Amino acid sequence: MVDREPWRDVELLTPPLPCLVGEGVFDHFAWWPSTTITWRCHAPALVRNARSTDPTGMAFVFSREVLRIPAELARLHVGRASGVGEAMCLAPYAIDDATDELFEQRIEPRSVLWLIADNLDALFWGLHDWSHFHNHGSFEARAATELQCDLAALVWLSLNREVIGLDASDLDSLRDQAARAHEQLCLAQPHTHALPSRWLDTAADFNHLLAQLASPDGELR
Ligand SMILES: [Zn+2]
Repeated sequence: MVDREPWRDVELLTPPLPCLVGEGVFDHFAWWPSTTITWRCHAPALVRNARSTDPTGMAFVFSREVLRIPAELARLHVGRASGVGEAMCLAPYAIDDATDELFEQRIEPRSVLWLIADNLDALFWGLHDWSHFHNHGSFEARAATELQCDLAALVWLSLNREVIGLDASDLDSLRDQAARAHEQLCLAQPHTHALPSRWLDTAADFNHLLAQLASPDGELR
């Protein structure tokens, strides 16, 4: 009998969302439409924790080197038990550099990066960053930019909830935390373009967005 690896690799569906935050926030929205992301959970089950501003236990691992994007040893972030060996990962402080460099070099994100995350906070932020990597913007309208990427992460978590192992209460907690985070960003930056998070106000509002996107006339494919 062969021992199974203590991690599992899953392809998560990440179909592109329409731009939900208005004109002018992104300069090259969906410059490369997202398709899927390879995700490894290196724990027996995903730890279901609350949203933070500084996720741990995650790494965007490079499948090939990309010049000018800062890299670090992935095992320093996710441990040797993740099976990542000596592979390099995107430096956690360099999400914006990666967003710019992938766009400027027109490199499909999934051709160079895959995600390791063992907790819900890290998986949420990994998917949020996945949205950044496919939608380039100046980041001047910060609240609106972050809202689009939060909505993408929530929609993708919902689409993949069964394979990830999430239930409705996990998703609703995240929705509520994203709504609070958006409010804080709008308060902190009142002079930048901001908009109400009408899709995040209640579970029913978010489910309405999901239904719209999934309808025959919706844009989620
Ligand atoms: Zn962001």
